[in-house]
Amino acid sequence: MSAYISENIRMLLGDMPEGTELVAVSKFHLAGALREAYDAGQRVFGESRALELEAKAKELPSDIIWHFIGHLQTNKVRKVVAYADVIQSVDSSRLLETIDSEACKAERRIGVLLQVHVAREETKFGFSPDELSAYVTKDLIASLKSVDILGVMGMASNVDDEDRIRSDFRAIRHCFLNLKAEIFADDPKFSILSMGMSHDWHIAVSEGSNMIRVGTSIFGEREY
Ligand SMILES: *Cc1c(COP(=O)(O)O)cnc(C)c1O
Repeated sequence: MSAYISENIRMLLGDMPEGTELVAVSKFHLAGALREAYDAGQRVFGESRALELEAKAKELPSDIIWHFIGHLQTNKVRKVVAYADVIQSVDSSRLLETIDSEACKAERRIGVLLQVHVAREETKFGFSPDELSAYVTKDLIASLKSVDILGVMGMASNVDDEDRIRSDFRAIRHCFLNLKAEIFADDPKFSILSMGMSHDWHIAVSEGSNMIRVGTSIFGEREY
């Protein structure tokens, strides 16, 4: 087996500021590639499709922490809740309610991140900053039985303009800090700001990200 995956992880970890968590985005890569990352010490992996998550979770070691990062339809929630520890891509009230009820039935606790949409193109998924602040209340949190809201996830516009990327990350961070101050001030679990992918994570961490989701720079290009 080639050593490039472990080398890529080693280099990334060396570059990342202390206190930043790496989610190795392994979607579309075969279990052997994940195994190589696992053997290099990586334990947190990100997947974006329910069936692929299930297959890999069954095949790979049980101490892997799986983050679900793709758009999730409510009819796939049960499958994802069975394997994921964290669902980063919560983009609607209906999805959050479904995750809570399925997690409750499965007797699992699931961490979630609320996805904020600020980028102009790319995915349209996610709450706008205004929707998010209207939606997240102390009553909402009190109503959740099996879900912990751990923070916020977002993506910057897919552009070369660094200023634009930076201002998108700032807008996402602003949402995180607002919620932290207004709703989660007494909740230390609400602590994750997940921003940054292979091409923009340096900018993301300079704008306060403490969790980056990196696929291509670890595993190479995906073949869809
Ligand atoms: C695929 C994906 C990533 C990783 O992207 P790379 O450019 O390969 O690092 C990160 N976050 C989300 C939400 C993704 O869907």
